[in-house]
Amino acid sequence: MLSRGQLWPERRSAILRPANLMQHIHGITFTDEHLIPIWERVRAGERLSPADGLTMFESHDLSALGGMADYVARAKNGERVHFVINVHINPTNICVLNCKFCDYVHSRNDDGAWEMTPQEILAHITPEMHEVHIVGGHHPDWPFEYHENYIRAIRDAHPDIQIKAFTAAEIDYFAKRWKLSVDEILDRLVAAGLNSMPGGGAEIFSARVARELRYTGKAQAARWLEIHAKAHARGIPSNATMLYGHIETYAERVEHLRLLREQQDASGGFLAFIPLEYQVSTEKLVARHASALEDLKTIAVSRLMLDNFPHVKAYWIMLQEDTAAIALNFGADDIDGTIAKERIAHAADARSPGGVTRKRLVRLIRDAGKTPVERDALYNDVKVYGEEDVVAVMEERYRPVQRSRESPRAGRPLDKFAAR
Ligand code: SF4
Repeated sequence: MLSRGQLWPERRSAILRPANLMQHIHGITFTDEHLIPIWERVRAGERLSPADGLTMFESHDLSALGGMADYVARAKNGERVHFVINVHINPTNICVLNCKFCDYVHSRNDDGAWEMTPQEILAHITPEMHEVHIVGGHHPDWPFEYHENYIRAIRDAHPDIQIKAFTAAEIDYFAKRWKLSVDEILDRLVAAGLNSMPGGGAEIFSARVARELRYTGKAQAARWLEIHAKAHARGIPSNATMLYGHIETYAERVEHLRLLREQQDASGGFLAFIPLEYQVSTEKLVARHASALEDLKTIAVSRLMLDNFPHVKAYWIMLQEDTAAIALNFGADDIDGTIAKERIAHAADARSPGGVTRKRLVRLIRDAGKTPVERDALYNDVKVYGEEDVVAVMEERYRPVQRSRESPRAGRPLDKFAAR
């Protein structure tokens, strides 16, 4: 395996690049003059090129990157920062694959392997939740009907909750394992009650990294994108992720963003982009976690490159709360949710707590100077928190908004989600 110095050669050019005198251009102070033409293009509403993306990743000028990204985030979402009252459910950690970065995977006979019944899955859902997020391992012999049945059980028990389930990697596995078409799988899941799809399983769209990190057995870039396109065509919105901070290069990050942007142009159903910081645990692909500076830069560059994604998320589980809160001024307009129970990042010793309260999220958002907006899985407003609401939450006398009986379902046209 290459050393990090070889893998991120771009960084050396950033270190060697001389810092110019500060320049103040339209409200932003630059110490890296290479960013100034990019700022002009951002202000003109022009699309940034992959070369621009690389220039931004190479730059040391974090404050200017954050200012540019915040400008774009404000143009799209104003002062609003979204969160959701949700739960993450991981029905099984048994998986036929063995991706090198994964500390979650178990074989059936391992200590710590689990398989949840539909009843156990249902037990995690409470009336206050607006979203249930479900992802898991590629179980060797749970038939597709098993997954279909627990989605239906949730829908029957909670007609008004939004179900966000199964990454494109899982859908691809169901198709290969049970010899079903992706079209049939998606149609059956929608009939069972699916509302949207999460964005996991994308990792980094790079054949080199896939080989080195042993994830060639899961949906690769073209297939991952194809499955999201099919979902979008059915009115199933989805998210997209990028796993960074391991052995990928800046150029590979830029290519990943470019492919997502092209797909969004074509199918228009991505709601949010979520950069996922690699969690260092037993595999130790690198010696330590990406720094907070690297996290903030990645959020900012993602916001600037993905001009057609409505939302960029600071996923506090992986960033930790403090960095996620700062990211709300570096282009992120979403901090995910209460999450209640998270087992994938925490299998890799994520340093964040397993879940947080509404009070904590509202506090983080207000401390960042933004307006808390509670949302559902499809980014419909549940509640915009005014000053009175914030005070009520802090004093623990806030009364949650009940789920709507008219919760939107998959199958609608996705026009409202496509945003430039
Ligand atoms: S990342 Fe997902 S597909 Fe890969 S080994 Fe872990 S659970 Fe399995």
